Amino acid sequence: MGIKEVKDLLFHFPSRYQDFSKITPIGDVGIGETVTVMGKIIDIQNSRTYRKKMNITEAIVEDASGVIKSVWFNQPYLVQNLRPEFNVVLSGKTAFSNDGLSLSSPSYEVVGREFENCLPSVASAKEGKLKIENLRHVGRIVPVYPETAGITSRWFRYVIKPLLYLTEKIPEYFPEEILRRHNMPSLSQALNDIHFPKNLDGAENAKKRIAFGELFLIQTVALKEKLSLQKQNAPKINLDIDLAKSFVSSLPFKFTDSQRACAWEILQDLEKPHPMNRLLEGDVGSGKTVVAAMAALQAIKSGYQVALMAPTEILAQQHFSGITEFLDPYKITVAILTGSAHKKTSQKIKYSAFKISKSKVAKETSEGKIDIIIGTHALIQETVRFKNLGLIIIDEQHRFGVEQRAKLCKRGSPVPHLLSMTATPIPRTLSLAAYGDLDLSLITQMPKGRKHIITKIVAPAGRSQAYRFIYDQIKQGRQAFVICPLIEESEKLEAKAATKEYEKLQNNIFPDLKISLLHGKMTGKEKEKIMQEFSAKGGSASSGKDKRPDILVSTSVVEVGIDISNATVMLIEGADRFGLAQLYQFRGRVGRGEHQSYCFLFTDSTSKTTHQRLKALISAKNSFELAEEDLKIRGPGDFIGSRQSGIPDLAMASLTDLEFVKKVRKEVEDLLAHDPELETNPMLRQKYDTFRREIHFE
Ligand code: ADP
Ligand code: MG
Repeated sequence: MGIKEVKDLLFHFPSRYQDFSKITPIGDVGIGETVTVMGKIIDIQNSRTYRKKMNITEAIVEDASGVIKSVWFNQPYLVQNLRPEFNVVLSGKTAFSNDGLSLSSPSYEVVGREFENCLPSVASAKEGKLKIENLRHVGRIVPVYPETAGITSRWFRYVIKPLLYLTEKIPEYFPEEILRRHNMPSLSQALNDIHFPKNLDGAENAKKRIAFGELFLIQTVALKEKLSLQKQNAPKINLDIDLAKSFVSSLPFKFTDSQRACAWEILQDLEKPHPMNRLLEGDVGSGKTVVAAMAALQAIKSGYQVALMAPTEILAQQHFSGITEFLDPYKITVAILTGSAHKKTSQKIKYSAFKISKSKVAKETSEGKIDIIIGTHALIQETVRFKNLGLIIIDEQHRFGVEQRAKLCKRGSPVPHLLSMTATPIPRTLSLAAYGDLDLSLITQMPKGRKHIITKIVAPAGRSQAYRFIYDQIKQGRQAFVICPLIEESEKLEAKAATKEYEKLQNNIFPDLKISLLHGKMTGKEKEKIMQEFSAKGGSASSGKDKRPDILVSTSVVEVGIDISNATVMLIEGADRFGLAQLYQFRGRVGRGEHQSYCFLFTDSTSKTTHQRLKALISAKNSFELAEEDLKIRGPGDFIGSRQSGIPDLAMASLTDLEFVKKVRKEVEDLLAHDPELETNPMLRQKYDTFRREIHFE
């Protein structure tokens, strides 16, 4: 569990609590209640059942008000710990058996002599005079921890409780006034309260305090990044209004209002003397590329080079043809540099990309002969040197790492402007918290005239009809995606399930169609090859020898942003397991061509809320709406797994609370405004340095 030292134990937080705080006199206990009682053991015995060969431990416990039996199964060792005459506290659920009320498998704890004087008096128990400080498992709010094989919550309680005195030695890193302003306990108090709270409010406050600290550090990293970037020099890219106008009017379509607003924000950033660090967010198909091309044109005409990076070679290829076309009216040389193909287009040879060697592309780039170079994300790390790089555009990556960015800055001054693009809708809290170093531009509209994708929720009974429909589409020359259900936390299991689904479809459902398979256990090369085959132009499997697959069965890894205009069906198995925003993105992979497209959401669930949730997909206008909605329903884990993001769990959980995130951000801003290096607060500085070292976003 990553627990290596005492500190890790203190920071291993309960996932929930059981309220065993109220002691009930045994005489008042009712059937089917979850209760805590305190009494003396009169008798305790093991016995075995004949039929099931099970061990049963039965204890008789008595207080001044009555007697109750307690039963445990297959824990024969209990008789060593729980002996007659011992005073115990038991918490658990009551059941009714032949010989009266009993507690079934209660949590237990032996309590010492200090309780003795309150034992006989029911009244004192009722008035809550019981000293709970030393109890761990019962008679209080009891922590329930994330567990693992052989390590139970009971074990965690057992070891953590006696270590809590050490929290006094953990220094407070927040200034007094911040704690006071937000009515928060000190860190050491919070650590005590999060493990063994006096009441549920105390636990809640403790969690808030820890989350506040984590969010504070995350935002400090992001905002300090932003401040340091503002001190760097950037290439000055003058806004050429005539050029912008001519670009827009050269397009075969009209910009949406959103595109215009975003382009404007970007072009204004480019004029500033410090580097842009902007994220352009917009649904799949909302037209981000053309906005980026417009920015690239301005940079190039100011005498700078542009690098455009995509996550895969196929996407790089797509950008190459797209950008070449958008920039065709201008004297601009575009080159692509990938593992497999190196091409170049220039004004002189219109439309006909010609192949040149990799080294030649690199050489011409370093000489400044190439205006815009397109490649995968590795482009920047490779040996490619630029003569005067002015703008970097990164597609389908919502965040360019702080470290990667730092690497770029080290290349010297000026530091190139950076534009990232993503179709992943990022909830506002998350962008405020973790992406605070970025400025955001949102494309919230789709271009006019986009075909509506017909979306249907399909219950198990509709399965064969849907398959017939898909078969029909394929016979008309179309293609289909089948997305397999999400299996939390296990790419391996997911790959296995996808393979099974693939075999089922190939062998039983569509034996005469060509089906291919894609999952996360494949190498990048294998995945690329499969996508390449699936996106190939030309005849379908049934019509020609050159077999392009008809159906692609995939786990959720399927390419973001890929444009396969011939695919018209998106079938999603186990749709209820996915986040709405994710479903929205899957759906966005169809409906990109001239043909009517369809999305089938398969679900076995008969729950009304599930259906309502899925229906939101049919009515929502854009993915931002869905993302915010989903965040409320399912929590933030769906957007970025907490492990990948480096965001600690409690901070993550607090991302549902926009006001809270804003409050923290305001504190960070105020602090950095008058003390950007945290010099007046060495403890905080130290904490920040450690945090920064330990945490890698991405
Ligand atoms: P994405 O935002 O997913 O990267 P693209 O930039 O690939 O989207 O754009 C999708 C398609 O829409 C492209 O073929 C592009 O040329 C086209 N497009 C972009 N903007 C508009 C617009 N305003 N009107 C019509 N089509 C547009
Ligand atoms: Mg795109």
